[in-house]
Amino acid sequence: MKIAKKNRHTLTMSKRIFAVMLAFVALVLALLWIFQVLFLGDIYENIRIGELKRAARQLEGSLDGSNVEQVMYDISSKLDVCISVYEISGNVGKLELRSHIDADCLIHNIVYDSLLKRLYSGASQQKYYIERVAPSEDAQHSFPETVIMSCVAEGDNKTRMILINAEIAPVDATRNTLIAQLGWISVILVVVAILLTYIISRRLAGPIVEMNKEAAKLSRGDYNVSFNGGGSRETEELADTLNYAAAELSKIDKLQRELIANISHDLRTPLTMISGFSEVIRDIPGEATPENMQIIIDETNRLASLVNDMLDLSRMTSGNKALNIERFDMRELVRETLTRYTKLKERDGYSFTVDSDREFFVNADKNRILQVLYNLINNAVNYCGDDKTVMIRQFETADGAVRTEIIDHGAGIAESELPMIWDRYYRANDFHRRAAIGTGLGLSIVKSILELHGARYGVISKEGVGSTFYFELPLAQIDAE
Ligand code: ADP
Repeated sequence: MKIAKKNRHTLTMSKRIFAVMLAFVALVLALLWIFQVLFLGDIYENIRIGELKRAARQLEGSLDGSNVEQVMYDISSKLDVCISVYEISGNVGKLELRSHIDADCLIHNIVYDSLLKRLYSGASQQKYYIERVAPSEDAQHSFPETVIMSCVAEGDNKTRMILINAEIAPVDATRNTLIAQLGWISVILVVVAILLTYIISRRLAGPIVEMNKEAAKLSRGDYNVSFNGGGSRETEELADTLNYAAAELSKIDKLQRELIANISHDLRTPLTMISGFSEVIRDIPGEATPENMQIIIDETNRLASLVNDMLDLSRMTSGNKALNIERFDMRELVRETLTRYTKLKERDGYSFTVDSDREFFVNADKNRILQVLYNLINNAVNYCGDDKTVMIRQFETADGAVRTEIIDHGAGIAESELPMIWDRYYRANDFHRRAAIGTGLGLSIVKSILELHGARYGVISKEGVGSTFYFELPLAQIDAE
């Protein structure tokens, strides 16, 4: 069988993995770019101002304590800032404490009154007032860009103003370094993405590509395939499933070949007999005896039953599974089935005994259950050997079902064969039994019908003692009668 390849527009697995990797790399780079380059200045300033606020709060709490100068010194050296504390009385501010660690700090070098006033009025309006001062120069100093935070603190009947002066280092140099680094990081990330794609696709896509090749062989009818799942659990499970499917397909293929061989043999034998005897009757006067005619009739019947078996099975497997449920008596059904065997009784000396002491009404598909009975009785007749006795027993089980047993005292079935006899096309003893016409389909038909009914069924058999085939159907409720 040739598989038509669809004109697919989907990406291969490796390309898809690579696309996902590249998208991931692009996202990482974009985030780095945004945070490290675009907003670097803002982020740095926000962090610095946050530090100043915390320092101001700490200082506020220590202003009236004895170790205020130590606290101021600690904060100054830790945050690299200069601090002044003014005592405010009326309109006048007097420098009370200072911590000066940076020669270029603005608040300790030039303090214009106007700046002090602005800082004080700002701090009176909002708790932590921030003033940014652009770089500037005077005769002795050059002042970088700085930030001054002012905050008014009340305590011990004094009003004070805390000033914290911090340099805002320019981030341009840092930004340029980062841009250069990001260039390298981008190259490295893309190379890593390519490497990872290669490794992942080898591990994931590799086994799938291999399995695909094997599956293509399988689809061409080559059952000598072996699927290997590689490293991951999903692909290993897929490989196990495909190996199982391949083994089953190969088994079915083998059984089907055997069936064709069996059927051709079974068809040829009666046909040879029919044509042989017909020629004898046509060519030799006096050979048109009832016995010869009977042989032709028997062989025709064999052919008919073979064809019926095959039709039954194909009907069962082609999905026609609807049951035609009706209410009927199992004891009566056994009687009906046995009427087909009257001739066998009279002519060949077979005897049939029925052990059933009452009616057993069930709700089931009558025609199909008749088929079950017919197949089981046929097998009993075929395999009962010289004993020529078939017994049918019916009784009620403890859980309210009627159990029908078909018992023979023939050769029985070897224990090793018992599980296989229900398989389609299976025939125990490979030699071809002329007496037992069968295709190996009978029990598989029985099994399909009983399983459709949800019935319990089985066989008890011992070699040299005989076989008991049985099935159980639930008894119909009394009130339904
Ligand atoms: P067949 O058409 O060959 O009888 P079945 O499916 O009816 O096919 O049975 C499968 C195999 O089970 C038979 O070939 C036979 O070996 C074994 N078998 C079935 N019924 C009996 C029985 N009553 N006694 C011994 N062997 C049996």
